[in-house]
Amino acid sequence: MILPVVKYGHPILRKKGAAIEKMTSEIKKLIDDMFETMYDAAGIGLAAQQVGHAVQLTVIDVRAASKERPSRLEVDGKAVDVAEYMPLALINPKITPFGDPTKGPEGCLSFPEIYADITRPESVEVEALNAKGERIHFRAGGLLARAVQHEVDHLNGILFIDRMAGEAKAEIKAEIETLQAETKALLKKRQ
Ligand code: ZN
Repeated sequence: MILPVVKYGHPILRKKGAAIEKMTSEIKKLIDDMFETMYDAAGIGLAAQQVGHAVQLTVIDVRAASKERPSRLEVDGKAVDVAEYMPLALINPKITPFGDPTKGPEGCLSFPEIYADITRPESVEVEALNAKGERIHFRAGGLLARAVQHEVDHLNGILFIDRMAGEAKAEIKAEIETLQAETKALLKKRQ
């Protein structure tokens, strides 16, 4: 089922997600629906907050962008094929970003048509549970590292606009304010 994606201005985007204690049928259904929603919106990542659930769950699939923006992946110290590791659900992820600060373009399904360069560490070490509830541990670089950091920020109520340099943020300030006002007006109407 394709779920509505909440836009900037919705308070749930600022909520830290609760840890998922048990793999219930509801969580499994939410994972399936989040993948369907992400693919429908042509995104490469989606966090539970973006579909109205403040829990520690995100889905990622970088394959669609892999030609222009490569990723690297290491599991148990060995380089593995990124495509074979996709799609990826991360439950209760713990991440340690490392490596040189790297600038790259980012967008977000909760900020339609707003893009900006964001600087983040080039790589990330990740520990999480996957969609089957199995413990996974990997190191990622390139686009996958960026996607993981963007999505895990969402799980902590942090948005990519918080990571933008002052100049980049100033450029899109008017668009962000318009989006926020539209979302708030829509929420008010629904009450
Ligand atoms: Zn996002």
